[in-house]
Amino acid sequence: MHVGDIAIGGDEFVVMAGPCAVESERQVLDTAESVAKAGAHILRGGAYKPRSSPYSFQGMGLEGLRILSKARDLTGLAIITEVMSETDVDVVAEYADIMQVGARSMENFSLLERLGTCGRPVLLKRGMTATLEDLLRSAQYIAASGNPDVILCERGIRTFETATRNTFDVAAVPVLKTVCHLPVIVDPSHAAGVRALVPVLARAGVVVGADGLLVEVHPDPDKAASDGEQSLTFAQFDSMMLDLEPYLNLRPNADRRYAAAGGLD
Ligand code: PEP
Ligand code: MN
Repeated sequence: MHVGDIAIGGDEFVVMAGPCAVESERQVLDTAESVAKAGAHILRGGAYKPRSSPYSFQGMGLEGLRILSKARDLTGLAIITEVMSETDVDVVAEYADIMQVGARSMENFSLLERLGTCGRPVLLKRGMTATLEDLLRSAQYIAASGNPDVILCERGIRTFETATRNTFDVAAVPVLKTVCHLPVIVDPSHAAGVRALVPVLARAGVVVGADGLLVEVHPDPDKAASDGEQSLTFAQFDSMMLDLEPYLNLRPNADRRYAAAGGLD
C-alpha cells in the first residue's frame, strides 16, 4: 500500500509518531521536526478527539487539520489523523494522507462505509472489546464499499488486568498477518498507558512482524491536553528508535523463519 512514496506492508518498518491531540502550531511543528529527524515517516495528531468525558478537550477541529498540513509542508512527513464522524470525512480527507478510525469507532458501520469512497488509505484500530474476526469484518466494510487500502492496528484490548491501560495482544500481529494480506501496525502507547512501557512493547511489535508503529510523542508530556502519561518526550522517542534498530535488522530473517514453519494451523 502506498502513501506518497512510503510503502506500508513492504520491507520497510513504518513509524507514525506525534501528539495524541493537536494543541497548537508550535507543539505540532516542533514535534514534527523532532520525530522526522529521528526517522519517523508519518506525523500523527488528533484534530477531532474521541474523549471519554464530554468536559475534556475535544480537539481543535479544522484549525488542527490546517496545522497538520503546515507540518507536512515543512517536514515532508505524511499526515495521519482521526475521523470520528461521517460528516467530517470530506474535510479530513482534504488534509490527511491516512484516515484513522479510532477504537471507539471500529463498529461505526456507516462511517466505515463512507470511508469506502474517501480516496485515502484507512488505518482501522481494533475496538477495545473486539475479536480479531470483528476487526476483519469492519475492514471488510471499508473494502466492500470500494476502498481496499486498509491498515489494521492492534492498540490493546480490555481485560481484567489493570497494570496497563489495555492488554497488548501481541499474538494479534502474526494471526492477522496469517489470515489476511493487509498491513498490521501496533500502537504501544494506548496499550501501555504509561510511557515507561512504550519502548518495550514497540520492540515486541517489531519482533512479531508488525509493519509499523503508531506512537505518541509530545514536547512536554506533563502538560499534554490528552494522554500525557503515555506520551514519550523527544529524547525518549530518539532513544526508542535507536533501541529498535537491532531488532529491525533481524526482521526479514524472523519473517522467513515464520513462513518456513508453515504459518498457523
Ligand atoms: C488515539 O490514537 O489518540 C486514540 C484515541 O486511540 P484509540 O482509538 O486507540 O483509543
Ligand atoms: Mn491518544
